Amino acid sequence: MTAPRIEIDLDKIRDNTRWLVNRLAPRGISVTAVTKAVCGHPDIANAMLEGGAVGLADARITNVRRMRSAGITCPILMIRTPMLSQVEEVATICDASCNTETAVVTDLAKATLRRDSCHEIILMVEMGDKREGIMPEDLTDFALQVTRTPGARLHGIGANFACLADAAPTPEKMAALSSLADDTEAVCGPFIETVSGGSSANLSWALEDGPVGRINNLRIGEAILLGTDPVSGRPINGLHTDVFTLLAEVIETKIKSKPVPLKLSDPALSALSLMPRHHWITRSILAIGLQDTNPAGLVFPAAITLIGSTSDHIVVETTNCPLSIGSEVALQVNYSALVRAMAAPDVTKVVLRNKRQTDYAAAERNGRYPAFL
Ligand SMILES: *Cc1c(COP(=O)(O)O)cnc(C)c1O
Repeated sequence: MTAPRIEIDLDKIRDNTRWLVNRLAPRGISVTAVTKAVCGHPDIANAMLEGGAVGLADARITNVRRMRSAGITCPILMIRTPMLSQVEEVATICDASCNTETAVVTDLAKATLRRDSCHEIILMVEMGDKREGIMPEDLTDFALQVTRTPGARLHGIGANFACLADAAPTPEKMAALSSLADDTEAVCGPFIETVSGGSSANLSWALEDGPVGRINNLRIGEAILLGTDPVSGRPINGLHTDVFTLLAEVIETKIKSKPVPLKLSDPALSALSLMPRHHWITRSILAIGLQDTNPAGLVFPAAITLIGSTSDHIVVETTNCPLSIGSEVALQVNYSALVRAMAAPDVTKVVLRNKRQTDYAAAERNGRYPAFL
């Protein structure tokens, strides 16, 4: 099979989405699935929808275009504030967008009016992450202005945490966001439908028992795709952490230096020869590099150690188990390694679908039903 390639288990994407949807539903929180890390891959987007996501969100119009071209018709939210130069297309193919600038909202509204439709506006509030957001004290004025702009509809407010400044969402901050929803309603009149509380970084807060207040939506990418909590870096119990496998092919294996025998001060210990006689350290090259992924974000199999990488090569060391030319090494990815691999033209995306349906069909023929269905 072609290499490098990234194998994507769609069943696990669907499972992870379903697990989060089921856990958050009793808390009154819906899941908008974020597709930006996978460049809006339509099969992945569809698996997220099958898992119960109420809609999709992406940061780039190119990714949204890709999903629309593949026939995806669900609501799509633009989560990066739209470029002025792209408002026409955002108004055409996105149902809603996150906004922080009046000039953008004005132009979005004009573009929407020309199409005789309406664009939903979610106002992002700055809650400490210091990436995007209107300052809380300016929110009600801004919101009032949106309600007076024909073509724009104030759909909700939102916030983002722990992306730039490591400002993890505390219960106090989440309560403050809820109060802002109440304040905005008090001034603007219309009901604030959506209070989009954050991303995967908010899950440890959302999955606990504390009050959720007005928060009724989260925009989730990483937890669905990697099964991890971006704040702690740890796996979330109940989610698959092996949705993606990156495969790279070995193109060179050589002994580049012989091991140096240990020099011990005690001659009696030296005589014991602590190193096995055939303990060779071998270097191999994988045909993949910085252009294809973030090597520092890869997890290698136990016997393989990353030595370094250049644009097109990753050099690894193995102990006692030389990699044969043409064999493949399976790598696990973190978020940055995943993002780059999904965007790299030379990494083939291989979708594994309906693995369980196939198992199910076989089981049915044999008169047995697997426990997981
Ligand atoms: C990327 C992003 C998300 C999703 O973040 P994850 O950590 O992948 O869950 C949510 N909201 C905004 C505004 C984003 O940019």
